[in-house]
Amino acid sequence: MNFKDYIRVIEDFPQPGIRFKDITTLLQNGPVYKEAINYLAELVKDQQIDLIAGPEARGFVVGAPLAYALGVGFVPIRKSGKLPGKTIEADYSLEYGKDKLAVHDDAIKPGQRVLIADDLLATGGTIQTCVSLIEQLGGEVIGSAFMIELTYLNGREKLPAGKNIYTMIQY
Ligand code: 5GP
Repeated sequence: MNFKDYIRVIEDFPQPGIRFKDITTLLQNGPVYKEAINYLAELVKDQQIDLIAGPEARGFVVGAPLAYALGVGFVPIRKSGKLPGKTIEADYSLEYGKDKLAVHDDAIKPGQRVLIADDLLATGGTIQTCVSLIEQLGGEVIGSAFMIELTYLNGREKLPAGKNIYTMIQY
């Protein structure tokens, strides 16, 4: 399966000069979406994962079905102010903007093995912030999984050494 055929590239979104990789065209195709999740599940299945953590919002459409496929729990990492319980928060900067991410302070138990999942690795800022939140709770980040990696932004270098990075397609 050539997953790239199902990703649409939109020029100048959300601002001039950005070539946005739109995964909605992949998601709307049931068999392809299923194969994409199964592909990622196959890559990570031997990692003894306890939990998948995914950042809002596209991390949910990758992370939640991946957790379901693996039979493990899912932890949502959300924008500040969205989670109802007690949270810890961390600042992050994106390829285009700044924000705060939060996670429930009881979502991860010390020593649990956590895989982070998102649709796309760009500069690595989002994932770096997720790693920091998970580690503050005592979780062990075993790596991260993405549908897409934008290799030219070198996001990999922001991830702590020795963490596995699982990707389906690269630009
Ligand atoms: P990073 O923090 O690695 O710079 O940016 C990755 C985050 O921004 C991901 O959560 C991802 O959803 C979003 N993102 C940045 N660029 C794109 C893009 O071209 N396509 C999609 N689908 N998401 C993007």
